Amino acid sequence: MAIRKLVTTKSKAKKTVGVGMPEALWLNEFGSLVWSAFGEIPYHVGSSLMRKSWRDVDIRLMLDDDKYEAMGFGNPEHQHRNAKWVAMCMAFSELGRKMTGLPIDFQIQQTTLANKQYSRSGGHWRSALGFTELRTYKPSEFELKYKCEVVGCDNLKAPDSKHCPACKHDLENRK
Ligand SMILES: [Zn+2]
Repeated sequence: MAIRKLVTTKSKAKKTVGVGMPEALWLNEFGSLVWSAFGEIPYHVGSSLMRKSWRDVDIRLMLDDDKYEAMGFGNPEHQHRNAKWVAMCMAFSELGRKMTGLPIDFQIQQTTLANKQYSRSGGHWRSALGFTELRTYKPSEFELKYKCEVVGCDNLKAPDSKHCPACKHDLENRK
């Protein structure tokens, strides 16, 4: 009895904001699959992002208005009546559930309506998902050493300077 009480207290004390580990890692793997399927980054939103207690884990994918329409999701104000939207949300919620072990509520939103209903000024936050290691661009050792640091410039520089001769010249002329 004493042991059970100890364990309960401990697990309660451990509860922090968010979904915790390793679920957060699985959530990003799930986000990466959603990104692959729709070409857009999904977001973790709602109470499981901000608070210690939550009922489910809300994941939202925002599609540009024309893309939303092209997908055949119909009127975004009545998405629950659109069979394709319902099927997509059910399918990806279930995939997320299986991958993360969390009660995932995945929904697709039309960007204009989502920004109107869930603005940041209204206290709604979004956290991008899907940035798994394989998706994150890492410069090679060669690039780190020789690539000019000016954005959009592909020239090479000396290892001990930040800019290539051309950009250095440009920057000096602008002063
Ligand atoms: Zn340059």
